[in-house]
Amino acid sequence: MTITFDKLELRQGEFSLTADLQIEEGHKIALLGPSGGGKSTLLSALAGFNTPQSGRILWRGEDITGTHPAQRPVTLLFQDHNLFPHLSAAQNIGLGLRPDLKLSRAEHDTVEQALEQVGLKGQGAKRPAQLSGGQQQRVAIARALLREKPILMLDEPFAALGPALKHEMLDLVGAIVDAAKATLLMVTHQPEDALHISDQTLLIAEGKAHAPQDTRTLLANPPLVLRNYLGT
Ligand code: ADP
Ligand code: MG
Repeated sequence: MTITFDKLELRQGEFSLTADLQIEEGHKIALLGPSGGGKSTLLSALAGFNTPQSGRILWRGEDITGTHPAQRPVTLLFQDHNLFPHLSAAQNIGLGLRPDLKLSRAEHDTVEQALEQVGLKGQGAKRPAQLSGGQQQRVAIARALLREKPILMLDEPFAALGPALKHEMLDLVGAIVDAAKATLLMVTHQPEDALHISDQTLLIAEGKAHAPQDTRTLLANPPLVLRNYLGT
């Protein structure tokens, strides 16, 4: 059960990134590296929003390089702007089940359960603007959870939250991913967040995505490019 970036070359304007590596499913993986290093570019490619220049992406041995984003085994969550402002929290979550929002009674119940699971019981009627930033991210996570995709990708999801709430959210995501036996790819700028949630870390720097390594081992003895970035 593997995600493979096979001699992948990605471009964003002048920028180019190579990735030739495998990710074993079931891990929680942090993506670390300098700003502008290509972390979002790599996640976009796996999500199908960025067509590679060359190379292939394989999932469980199947070539998904040309697969439509909606058909990919992934959910991608951004730092913010994950919700539709004109829809309620419950409707935003319901989109994870049915894009046309024509939910059955059972599906409505599922949405209520998801709200409860992220600590927002009874708040389903609120619109995003009536919720705090942390609550909005919980709604987005609840929707991601209902989608039940094997790969959950979070692109700096909790950067705007304070430390206490952030840890709570990391624990929530970790528990959800473990229960679903899913794979987590999470961009972070904080080594302590990587240590908190991930067992492996994928370093992206100088135009290259490196194979995942044990997070503790990597951070105990970081390569120069990572030391420069961390300022240690
Ligand atoms: P990271 O997420 O690690 O901060 P990104 O993947 O967002 O880095 O960006 C990698 C590089 O690609 C950056 O140098 C950035 O300037 C460039 N880039 C990102 N998006 C675009 C775009 N839409 N058009 C042109 N260049 C882009
Ligand atoms: Mg980014």
